Amino acid sequence: MTSRLELLATAIAAHPTLPREAVVKEDLLRTGIAFSPAALKLAAQFKKKAYFIFSFDLVPLAEMEKGEHWHAPEELWLEGGGWGFRPTVVSVRLNPASPYRVEAEEGAAVLRVEGEELARVKFPPVPEYYNRALASGKRVIEIAPTIEWGYLIYLTVFRICQYWGDKEECQFCDINENYRQQTRAGRPYTGVKSVEEILEALEIIASTDAASRAYTITGGSITSELKGQTEVEFYSAYAAAIEARFPNRWIGKMVAQALPKALARRYQDAGIKIYHPNYEVWDARLFRQFCPGKERSIGREEWMRRILDAGEIFGPACVIPNFVAGIEMARPDGYERVEDAIRSTAEGLEYFMSRGISPRFTTWCPEPLTTLGRANPEGAPLEYHCRLLETWRDTHARHHLAVPPGYGDPGLGRAVFSVSSFMDVISPAAPPPPALLPASGVPASV
Ligand code: SF4
Repeated sequence: MTSRLELLATAIAAHPTLPREAVVKEDLLRTGIAFSPAALKLAAQFKKKAYFIFSFDLVPLAEMEKGEHWHAPEELWLEGGGWGFRPTVVSVRLNPASPYRVEAEEGAAVLRVEGEELARVKFPPVPEYYNRALASGKRVIEIAPTIEWGYLIYLTVFRICQYWGDKEECQFCDINENYRQQTRAGRPYTGVKSVEEILEALEIIASTDAASRAYTITGGSITSELKGQTEVEFYSAYAAAIEARFPNRWIGKMVAQALPKALARRYQDAGIKIYHPNYEVWDARLFRQFCPGKERSIGREEWMRRILDAGEIFGPACVIPNFVAGIEMARPDGYERVEDAIRSTAEGLEYFMSRGISPRFTTWCPEPLTTLGRANPEGAPLEYHCRLLETWRDTHARHHLAVPPGYGDPGLGRAVFSVSSFMDVISPAAPPPPALLPASGVPASV
């Protein structure tokens, strides 16, 4: 059996144009990370994993014998160490059985794989606002957590999806199962956050913080109504309230279903700058199979058409649909060979990028409470993820597209996007993103 170090060495040698930090980051994201008890103790003094939407873990909470889910940090900053890492930020996906282990040595954290030191580790500092609470007693970490090293405020305002059960839920998504396991474990986990509590949490952040530059509003799909509102009414109300109270304080982003033009325009009217109508997987057969609810209620062809239509509203650079990188190789129905999976995904990238729209991806975390995760605990091969990075980078460059806005600085050593490496591999020659905020990014009142 190939050791993890051999796997890494092979991938790095086969992909010399990829920074090896990006190769390791992808492998960490698909495999997960273990923590020694001493490292967990050290990490507990830092910014903890907030479970901002999905579990993004490789085991259920019930199997975390060391209570990792209560102490683990949101992200790791990898720098220096045995492999001389340039700064790389990676999201923490817990897996007590992972060959990647964070250890505590002489009061500092180190990332090792099979005993070999890869990098020194920094944990994210606890922001001032994480020590504050709302009048109700709810903590800011629950209502308005931040990720991407403090860049992005992540507002999952509805923690449940109305696509419900095997025949409706996307087969890679554990939003509903995660909600159940978090509440069972006793974590305060508000199912529907009110507009008022979002504003109260943002007030606290705005008065104490200068690092956050963007917010994302998201949650499960609303197929009928929630609190008497349709999906667009429900989600746009948050954006409108935030922009009325804090005009242009942050870049507003919306992750929601692909809507017809007239409805998508309502997000823009509410103040949203960037729209993420995520298409999850490009292959038509796999979309129908893996996203049965979306297929039933909207349909794959219509979904893709609406993404293009949204470009006419927000501008193509500000429509950034996500896909879940790797699910196209999920057994038993996905592609068996890496080259076939990449060919399919590259077709989707070409389709959108040739029209000025840059999709981005989240590296698939095969969560065990999902259909695809259960059948594919090892996720997609590392070779797939390396080839995807090259394909995304090269397609993006070939179409002379700008750096996607709303993700912070691009390039290795600067990128903070933590759930895939697409921002780490962007060419330094890429045109800058369109300006969506006043020049300073932060209004003078802060
Ligand atoms: S639409 Fe699919 S991916 Fe989105 S929350 Fe619902 S089940 Fe999850």
